Amino acid sequence: MSKILVSACLAGLPVRYNGLAKTARDAIVQTWRDEGRLVIVCPEVAAGFGTPRPPAEIQLRRVGADVLDGAATIADATGDDVTAMFIAGAEHALQRAQEEGCGYALLADGSPSCGSGFVYDGSFSGATLDGEGVTAALLRRHGIRVFAHTQIAELADAIAADEARKS
Ligand code: SF4
Repeated sequence: MSKILVSACLAGLPVRYNGLAKTARDAIVQTWRDEGRLVIVCPEVAAGFGTPRPPAEIQLRRVGADVLDGAATIADATGDDVTAMFIAGAEHALQRAQEEGCGYALLADGSPSCGSGFVYDGSFSGATLDGEGVTAALLRRHGIRVFAHTQIAELADAIAADEARKS
C-alpha cells in the first residue's frame, strides 16, 4: 500500500506560522487516513520553530532548489536568517518519508518548506513565483512524487495507476 507524506497543517494540526491549520476537508484524504496511509510531518516544527512564528520567505526570487544548493537563503519577516533550520526540517521530512516508505507527498502549496507549485518571492509583499519550497525540492530529488493540496484528485489517480500496475 502506497504511503503518503502529508503536511501536518493539511492534516488539521494548527502548526502554520500564524498558529492555524489548513485542513484538507476532502473525502479522499479521509479515506487515506482511515487506511493508515498518511505520514504526518511539519518540517518547520520538526526543525524547532515555535507556533506561531514570523513568516519566512526564500530570498530573493529564488526557490527551494537554490537553497539546497547554497545559492539562496531564507529570512523571516524580522530579518533573521533561518536557512539552516529550513534545511534541517526538509531533511527530517525526507528521513520520515524514507523510513515509512512514502512514494508520494501531499504538501501545502506556497510555503517556503512545503510549496510545490509556487512560493512567495522574498519581498513579503504577497507576490509569488512558480517553484517549490525546500522540503518539496529535497523530496523530489529523492524520487518522491510531490503533489500540492490543490492536486488531491491527481494524486489519487497516480496512486491508483501505480497500484493497478503492481497488482
Ligand atoms: S512547514 Fe509545511 S506542514 Fe508545516 S505549517 Fe508550513 S506548510 Fe504546513
